[in-house]
Amino acid sequence: MADPNPDQQAWAELFGIQAPIGDGQGEAGEARRGLFSRLRENLTRPRQAISPQLAGIFAPKLVTEETWEQLEEALITADCGMEESLAVVEELRAETREGRIVGGQDLARALWRVIARDMAPEPARISLEHTPTVIMVVGVNGSGKTTTVGKLAHRLSSLGKSVVIGAADTFRAAAVDQLAVWAERAGAQLVRQGPGADPGAVAYDAVASGRSRGADVVLIDTAGRLQTKHNLMEELRKVAGVPAKLDPTAPHETLLVLDATTGQNGLSQARLFHEAITLTGVILTKVDGTAKGGIVLPIRRDLDLPVKLVGSGEKLEDLQPFDAEAFARAIFSPEA
Ligand code: GDP
Repeated sequence: MADPNPDQQAWAELFGIQAPIGDGQGEAGEARRGLFSRLRENLTRPRQAISPQLAGIFAPKLVTEETWEQLEEALITADCGMEESLAVVEELRAETREGRIVGGQDLARALWRVIARDMAPEPARISLEHTPTVIMVVGVNGSGKTTTVGKLAHRLSSLGKSVVIGAADTFRAAAVDQLAVWAERAGAQLVRQGPGADPGAVAYDAVASGRSRGADVVLIDTAGRLQTKHNLMEELRKVAGVPAKLDPTAPHETLLVLDATTGQNGLSQARLFHEAITLTGVILTKVDGTAKGGIVLPIRRDLDLPVKLVGSGEKLEDLQPFDAEAFARAIFSPEA
């Protein structure tokens, strides 16, 4: 069961559980370094987009008026949103006036600190206190939902948790087959019905199965509804209400998978989903394909939703608990 991957410690922290033997105490620092370096690696391409800008901002020995203009532009380019970008610049300007920031290097450190704080005032958590803990995963087609459910199932299994996956995306046979492969790899039980089956019935079966087996976690993959279609959102609302028939406290998490490359459009998507069903957090995928990871800030600021997980590639290990500090530094560091 022991996994030599230092990520395990970060995952155990996310879930509020003990890491398996072999990934015990004293490895949190190593885990953080591991996460940071891989995130950095996966974000190389996106970072190149604003790298010259950042290099120009962080290089000077003295911060000048021009620095602030450049910084504001870089923040907006990274999709931090106008309001947040202006607020960050204002705060850092004040620190400069007070003499706490003198040169570009001070500015870099202060920027990472402020961005990380605004991205996540507290560390990401997904509590597994319920048996089973029911986690619904929603989002539009192509956002990476199915892949994320597979990665999550695998990670939970490697932490010794038993997992049931409900394939409630009954509209796409391919999605169910894809999930079957993921489930087998993760040693998770897959609950599925035929194509076109009622997604609510699948969700119900999955939770019922999880309860009867005493599973630790039930992951429900829902259909990638187009958020603009009112009736489709209505259906999602119905599916979201199903787990409560078996456990009034469920679902315990409803996570929106958001493709980071959709930029500001992702924000309106998040808003629509949040209005239809109550979200508890966001899983930001494909941050490896964009310099727009700053979208975490308006998600937090406007919707008060925490980003809990980040997908930075197609490999199994390219899903990580959201670490605001590592993320802020990975986005806002010039190319080495
Ligand atoms: P769904 O329609 O929302 O279930 O999306 P899928 O899980 O089928 O994923 C759509 C595509 O995005 C697939 O080709 C995935 O391999 C890819 N994908 C998912 N997550 C990531 C990620 O974090 N980074 C990258 N580069 N690709 C991803």
